[in-house]
Amino acid sequence: MSQLGWKHHTLIQALLSRGPLKEMEFCTIFAEITGKNPATNKQLFNDCLLKINKELDFVQFELRAFMDQYDGNIYYGIVNNVADDQSKLGTKYSPAQIAFYKAIIEAIVLDGTKNGCITNIEALNVHLEDQAAGKALQDNQSCIPAAFKSFSISQKEKALNQLIKDRWLSSTSDGLVGLGIRSFLDLRSWFRNNEVVSCEVCNEAAIKAENCPNKGCSIRMHSYCLKKKFYQRKVARICPGCGTSWDPSDCFIEEEEAAEEPSQSNETTEASAKVKKRTRSYKIERDANELNQAPLLPPLGKRLRSCKAETRNKEPSSSSPVRPLGIQRARRSTRG
Ligand SMILES: [Zn+2]
Ligand SMILES: [Zn+2]
Repeated sequence: MSQLGWKHHTLIQALLSRGPLKEMEFCTIFAEITGKNPATNKQLFNDCLLKINKELDFVQFELRAFMDQYDGNIYYGIVNNVADDQSKLGTKYSPAQIAFYKAIIEAIVLDGTKNGCITNIEALNVHLEDQAAGKALQDNQSCIPAAFKSFSISQKEKALNQLIKDRWLSSTSDGLVGLGIRSFLDLRSWFRNNEVVSCEVCNEAAIKAENCPNKGCSIRMHSYCLKKKFYQRKVARICPGCGTSWDPSDCFIEEEEAAEEPSQSNETTEASAKVKKRTRSYKIERDANELNQAPLLPPLGKRLRSCKAETRNKEPSSSSPVRPLGIQRARRSTRG
């Protein structure tokens, strides 16, 4: 068994204690502790993540890159691949609050017409009774816990706010309730088990995604995947399922990402000045990378799969790698 050094432990600790981190934030931490810019040291970065995953695999945890489907931002997080919902939400939430969360997730995800969002009113009106354990028990009213029946609107409001604060749910830019990044990280197998339609391009669950213009066709694609696919030269802008013309200019155009400087220490030492300089040059390189549609990182998902195959003789996940998708280029193209 290979040993992890303090640098690996610092990365793991950052992800565990602070929850999923934006790609930029995670790469900044990596640069600070290794002194190496991940954009120019991709091999080092990937080897480091592979090494971490080989160790995490023994306890069936996984460091994973994934996408916030509402804004297309990439995050890194550590997921427990065996825990049930109860243990993932921890001791912070009561069984009734967990049932409320699950009912909201089902309302958002399993109704294809919702496109990844429901209103506050819809969220507060979900039925906890449906979440009582076991289908057979649902028919028997006496088996529904009293705490579920008496869960009031004000308790629901309080739980909803906490779930948004803890990033299990999110408040979307248009004031609706959507999935939070922790749910995108943790619910991948739940999406599969519940036969949520996958994006035709990246094979991840299509929660917030575009429908084929042909109403009778079930093909869905994330708007960022759609743009990536259709802005390639020589690619016909038609639905890969039914052949209907599909113009990505009809798609929702993402808002400009808020210009966010990664958090920096207040120290004005030479070392921190160097880190700042590295961070800036990393950002510039990354923007350039996106313009060239070249992924910043090699396909992490693929690397993780090969890592898993080595350490555990188990069928690998069929998902596509998560990586930067050249959203900015697509955005500029629509304007130009
Ligand atoms: Zn996709
Ligand atoms: Zn179609």
